[in-house]
Order: sequence, then structure tokens, then C-alpha cells
Amino acid sequence: MSEQLVFSDIDTHSPMGADILERIARVLSPDDGPHPLHAPEIDGNAWTYVKDCLDTGWVSSVGKWVDRFEAMMMDATGAQHAIATVNGTAALHAALYAAGVRPGDEVLVPSFTFVATANAIRYCDATPHFVECESRSLGIDPAALGLYLDKLLIHRDGQVFNRHTDAPVRAIVPVHCYGHPVDMDALHKIAARHELILIEDAAESLGSSIGDRHTGRFGRAGVFSFNGNKTITTGGGGAIITDDALLARRIRHLTTTARAGDGTELIHDAVGFNYRMPNLNAALGCAQLETLTTKLETKRKLASRYAEALSGLEGVTMMVPPDWGHSNHWLNTILFDTMQARDDAFAALNANGYQCRAVWTPLHHMPMYADNPRMDLPVTEDLAARGLLLPSGSGLVQTGTTSSTDR
Ligand SMILES: *Cc1c(COP(=O)(O)O)cnc(C)c1O
Repeated sequence: MSEQLVFSDIDTHSPMGADILERIARVLSPDDGPHPLHAPEIDGNAWTYVKDCLDTGWVSSVGKWVDRFEAMMMDATGAQHAIATVNGTAALHAALYAAGVRPGDEVLVPSFTFVATANAIRYCDATPHFVECESRSLGIDPAALGLYLDKLLIHRDGQVFNRHTDAPVRAIVPVHCYGHPVDMDALHKIAARHELILIEDAAESLGSSIGDRHTGRFGRAGVFSFNGNKTITTGGGGAIITDDALLARRIRHLTTTARAGDGTELIHDAVGFNYRMPNLNAALGCAQLETLTTKLETKRKLASRYAEALSGLEGVTMMVPPDWGHSNHWLNTILFDTMQARDDAFAALNANGYQCRAVWTPLHHMPMYADNPRMDLPVTEDLAARGLLLPSGSGLVQTGTTSSTDR
């Protein structure tokens, strides 16, 4: 599971490397290592529920666990509809497509995200248009975006266009990066002003909220991922939530091969997708959702232990979640004053059993997205050069154990 990393040219005995190792070892003992970045924590009723699928033979696209998982997702998020899918990328694709993203459209999306966010836009034959993020949430910077769009967009015949490319600008996809909620209040206003379809990539933010509203519930639809490295897992899986009954029906239809009629004949009335989550995965998902509250509590503890251990270490800042929302602390993020310090820390930690990872490589640095339209992205570039992700899985902290922070 943990990747083999090779550091031929990097000094693993640098001053920053030694300092950071000492601090992180206060939180996670080197004797208990290696510490993966985010391993799944399989617990609770997982074995019972999965065994039920195996015993009954309902392992595939039909069965009670998918319905149950969707109901539990509605419960966990407060959404009126939930549709479970094979993965988060498929969920994003289906949500964008069903909400009306069309070939030739431009879709506003941060460059600082996982590649799937932009790929899903490309699957709709639309163009990702990269926008800037801010250091408080690591998500879209609404102030910078508002100014940019006021100059970029023209409203014509009830539609909104990019004045340089003349393409319709259809949608915006904020990402709650590493679980920290974006300033959705400000972003929602911008989306409304420019009639943009708002779809949230909440793949990383199950359990994160703003006020009493769960992330994923601020736009037309929100999308989650249950990949093995997310807060909870279904092996592979995703979900779309929405309060729009018509949209939910369309998404369910499209993600289940667009079957029509009463089922006696195989008739399909659109080019649909085979995106439904299998029952086997949903069974695991139900067990995982039952333990979500405990996992979130454990992750919150881990984040506060890191914050305590790192406080006062010069040249290092631990990212604190923005004060407008509540984070699930999916991946703990630290920022170094320099890229050199980040790379030294990265090398030292990985060489000693702490599986870290640099934050996202901005998507506009990747060959397939290098020529896409974009804002100036100085904050994105800066964060990408200095950010590091620490081991963050809920399984790293034994529930019941205490540290000085918890007492
Ligand atoms: C994980 C993730 C996805 C994709 O989810 P998969 O289930 O891996 O397909 C999309 N967007 C973001 C921001 C993610 O972190």
C-alpha cells in the first residue's frame, strides 16, 4: 500500500528534516510505523454486511445495500436525494452532464485540485477554465474570481460568454480541498450573478460543513468519493447529492444505463452510463457510514495533536481550517517557508516511515491542460511549491488513548 519512494538527490539529514521528524514523532511513534498517508480503517459491521452479499449472491448492480447506502448518505448530509456511483469521477461526470454542461462550454474550476475534477469536465467535451485559490481554505478565492469574471464575461441572449474565446461559460466547480470548506456564501453569490451552474466537488469533504449545512448542498448538486484513501471507503465508489427531484431522477436514469419501460424488455431511451455502485461496495459503505462520527472525531484529534506538536517550529505553518466552516481534516496540510525546506522535510519523513505527499501539482502544469484558459495563478503556484500532506488516516489514532491535548 505505501509507495516506495526514492530520494537519490535529496538530503534526508537536513536541519528541517531533523526538526520536523522530531515533532511528528511526538504525534505518531516511529515504532508503530510505517504510517501511511491515509489507509482505510475497516471496522464495525463491515464483515457482516459484506458477508451478507457473498452469502446471498447479491454482489452486483442490484440489491438492498445500495438503497440503504443512499438513504444513509441522505441522512449524513441532509440532502433530499442521493445516487451512489462506481467512483467519484463518474459521479462528477454524471452530475455535470445531467445539470447541462455541453460540448464547447467552459467550466470554471481550480487548478489546485485532483485531476479528476478537470477530467470529468473534459468527458463532457467541455473546457476546464482554471481559477485561483486562496490560502485560507485552499479552495477558490471568491474575491479574485469575482473581479476576474466581471471583466471576462459578457451576458448575451440569456447566456454568459467568455469575451475572448466566445465560448459559453456554463458552470463552476468549487473543490473543498483536503476537507476544508470553500467560502460558499461568497461563491454562491458569484454563481447567481453570472447564472453559472454550481456543482460542488465534495469528494474530500464528507463530514465538513458550513453552519448546519453539509458541503455538497450549496449548489445544484454535490459529489463525493469513497475511494480507499478518503475519509470513508466503499473500496471504490462515489455519490451525488441534490435537493432537486428532477435532476436526481435524470442522474439516476443516466447512471443506470438509461433503462426505460417496465423491465420486461431491455429498452434504453438515451445514451446512459453504467455508473451504478455495486451492492458489494455499498455493503462496506453502510458499515463505514455507521462509524463516520467516530472517524471524524479521531481525525479532529489527530489534527489538533499535529498542531500542538508543530507549534513554535520556525519556518512551518500548519494549515488551520477557515473560520466560516467545519473541516473533516481529511489530509493535514503544512506549509513551509521555502520549497527547499518542504522537499527536505518530505524526504526525511518518507525515509523514516511517515508517508507524506506534496500537495496537488497544479493542473495547468500538466500537458493535457497546459493551454487551457486560466486566471493568473500566483497563490496556486506558491501553495503547490511549499505544501506537504501528513499521514492522516483515522486508524492512526487509537480511540481511547489520550495525549496532552485531549486531557
Ligand atoms: C478523490 C477525488 C475525486 C475522484 O474520486 P474517485 O472516487 O477517485 O474517482 C474527485 N475530486 C477530488 C477533489 C478528489 O479528491
